[in-house]
Amino acid sequence: MKRFTIRIEIAVFAAGLLLTSIVCPVFAQFDDFAKHQNAVDLTEMRQQIEDLSIPYEQRLAAALKVREITGRLPWTPMTSKEWSQRLYEQKATVKRYQAAFPKLRCCETRYFLFASDAPPQMYQEIQSLLDRMYGVLCEKFNIPFVDPSQEQAGASNAEKRNASKVKPVRKNVWQAKCVVVVFMNESDYNQFEMRFFNQKPSTGTRGLCHQMMDGNVTITCRFAGDKFNLYSSLVHETTHGFSFMHRIAYPLPLWLNEGVSDWTARTLVPQATTCPTKQKQAVAAMQKTRSLGGMFHASDHLDPWQYGAAAMTVNLLLKRNPGAFVHLIDDVKDGADVEQTLIKYYNLDYAALANLLGRACGIAGVKP
Ligand SMILES: [Zn+2]
Repeated sequence: MKRFTIRIEIAVFAAGLLLTSIVCPVFAQFDDFAKHQNAVDLTEMRQQIEDLSIPYEQRLAAALKVREITGRLPWTPMTSKEWSQRLYEQKATVKRYQAAFPKLRCCETRYFLFASDAPPQMYQEIQSLLDRMYGVLCEKFNIPFVDPSQEQAGASNAEKRNASKVKPVRKNVWQAKCVVVVFMNESDYNQFEMRFFNQKPSTGTRGLCHQMMDGNVTITCRFAGDKFNLYSSLVHETTHGFSFMHRIAYPLPLWLNEGVSDWTARTLVPQATTCPTKQKQAVAAMQKTRSLGGMFHASDHLDPWQYGAAAMTVNLLLKRNPGAFVHLIDDVKDGADVEQTLIKYYNLDYAALANLLGRACGIAGVKP
């Protein structure tokens, strides 16, 4: 009985092997065929996305299919007419905000639609801060200059009239404009978020970046007693929107995303206390633990001190080699492995980078 069972088992095993040897190549062929078909489809879809003679909705649908296959959403380029339509819709949205919150005053810059109930001086300061921020980020991300006559879509009417007289401008990373809304008090801010974004901000939230898959970005912030800290969170959130729109809709890893946002905020608003406080906390934590607490692999949460450590890491990378930083951001946005990209352009893995950051703060032996 036992031998018979063994014989049956051997027979089943042999039949299994035979079947597997026949079936596996068939599956492998299916797999190869599917991969090949995906590659063909992707090439066709990418051509469709770029073909401005195809209606916008069809191009957007192709972009969303590319996202289904690759996990990354390519932005759909727009004709001048589609761009104007998008801007018209964004302005209509801001008008709805103003109808609900009549104290909001709105203005339009080349890259932003800005609405706020801030007093005149703060209003002016924020407006010029946004433009300065855009310039700094374009420099760090190496956004190309374009001839304004070829980049009419983002320009105001006055800019269009004077196009031949003005210097090249940075390419517009937004689809039409980025909408920025700043409130002077918390209850208006919370009501606004509830009404237009269907969410109550968690306690203590000073700003949010609403980034949408259709390419619309809205930044909202509130005053919480100190104007420089308001400016700092505004720059932090708007930088998130900029990173989101840069190249492709694929998020930077958490530490790099928060690090770039806090680095930009600290650079542009050195008077604010929020970023320096987090950086002091980071130094204290490194002294105590000799570790970055797994910062490089965090995917949904960083402690406040890790924001400080992330910003200092970005600062270190930018100082060491700003050109390599551009490649790092570009490759990571295109889906490359972050640590491998760091090794490629900086010759640093996470362990070496953590050690270097520690040494820059006078602390030996800091581990990732
Ligand atoms: Zn953030």
